[in-house]
Amino acid sequence: MTGHIPFDNSYARLPDSFFSRVLPTPVSEPRLVKLNSALAVQLGLDPEVLVTPEWVDIFAGQGIPDGAEPIALAYAGHQFGRFVSRLGDGRAILLGELVDCGGARRDIQLKGAGRTPFSRGGDGRAALGPVLREYIVSEAMAALGIPTTRALAAVMTGDSVLRDTPLPGAVLARIASSHIRVGTFEFFANRGDAEAVRRLADYAISRHYPDAAGAAQSYRSFLDQVIARQAELVARWLHVGFIHGVMNTDNMSIAGETIDYGPCAFMDAYDPATVFSSIDYYGRYAYANQPRIAHWNLTRVAECLIPLLAEDKDAALEQVKEALGGFAERFNVAYFGGLRRKFGLCQEQEGDIALMKDLLDRMAANKADFTLTFRRLCDAAADPQADSPVRELFANPVSYDDWAARWRLRLDQEPLDGDARRAGMRRVNPAFIPRNHRVEAVIEAAVSRGDFAPFEELVAVLSAPYEDQPAFATYADPPPPSQGAYQTFCGT
Ligand code: AMP
Ligand code: MG
Repeated sequence: MTGHIPFDNSYARLPDSFFSRVLPTPVSEPRLVKLNSALAVQLGLDPEVLVTPEWVDIFAGQGIPDGAEPIALAYAGHQFGRFVSRLGDGRAILLGELVDCGGARRDIQLKGAGRTPFSRGGDGRAALGPVLREYIVSEAMAALGIPTTRALAAVMTGDSVLRDTPLPGAVLARIASSHIRVGTFEFFANRGDAEAVRRLADYAISRHYPDAAGAAQSYRSFLDQVIARQAELVARWLHVGFIHGVMNTDNMSIAGETIDYGPCAFMDAYDPATVFSSIDYYGRYAYANQPRIAHWNLTRVAECLIPLLAEDKDAALEQVKEALGGFAERFNVAYFGGLRRKFGLCQEQEGDIALMKDLLDRMAANKADFTLTFRRLCDAAADPQADSPVRELFANPVSYDDWAARWRLRLDQEPLDGDARRAGMRRVNPAFIPRNHRVEAVIEAAVSRGDFAPFEELVAVLSAPYEDQPAFATYADPPPPSQGAYQTFCGT
């Protein structure tokens, strides 16, 4: 293991129009907040080297490691439905790529590393709060088993960033399968640069969907697989109550990873209309709207690929239609498959979907906590005596009783015994999610008191979300009722 990164920067070898070469801007006083040692090891890097001042400087953008070729990537995007032809990395700089211990190529990017040619009016910086939030939530997602970018390190810069008030500045060293977005395709398609779209598609295929290269219709296979991965990803979000918050096309990874944690949050009480982002006035990115938005975003990428799909435009459009038509099926298989596991139903029977939806409707009507309901259902699935902790989550507990009676009849037809069922359910129904009130408390302690102990503890608890962790049981609790509606903010 080593502190030397064997960079191999394939994106920087693409044509000049794909990026801009730019160095991070120096900062006043780099200070390490957190190194993700376990991730460092997976990347083949020595955690002891990465905490040395030389590496803390690198994470702050103060020094460039050998072999890095810092670039800001070009992309466009639809933001809340409106097309913006030039966005790009305005505050993120890709240091380069390495191949990790599992053989996967990974980007190392510094988010908040200073201005780039894509910064427009922005300062190129990130505040400590949002950096900690992305660290916590992206690592929680990884521990939940959901595809995501990862947080390798967080550093403070010693400088202030001006938001509504001056805030401590920070940089997040982020690891991703790549930073190719739906908006990267849109960037070139919008300029009418068909050659660049082809080049990007070929690159994305070789990096993320290598088997498409050998398919009879490789671009069609690529599109099908992008659609499938995105459908599966959004289904996984719904299973844990995650709301991305700003599913613009520039925030959707072509590799099917959760990316760009801005105003994201997990919901507490189940309500499909939940929106957290303060600027999402119409609920475009509400919890239950996410599959529809994923489909909308995938339609944008499909449009970009039209010239590659067939010479004849009508034939290409037919392919686009077919491919997008596959989304619903992919999503439903992933969503209901996962939901079945959450309910302890291994075998498919008619009426299952109605039974599952019925509980969700009752949870919504009774403001039942999403995560706790499913976690407690694991015990109830093994033993009807364990009903009472579930029913007390419902404003009207009788609403649960009616449903539970029918669920039990259905469970009687399952092959597994109660204990096995319970164990299976506990593997998919987490006890711990990054609850908003916890995340906020951690950020508050760090930003206003310089106290990072609560951050460390929360990150540790969330690293084993499916374990009970009795010493930290209160981390599973919903917010106190006194807390009003939660909001998150863009422009972080
Ligand atoms: P986001 O909402 O974080 O996905 O960012 C949307 C666009 O705004 C991207 O092009 C970002 O690079 C850019 N951006 C966001 N914050 C800043 C900032 N502080 N400075 C420069 N560009 C930014
Ligand atoms: Mg973004």
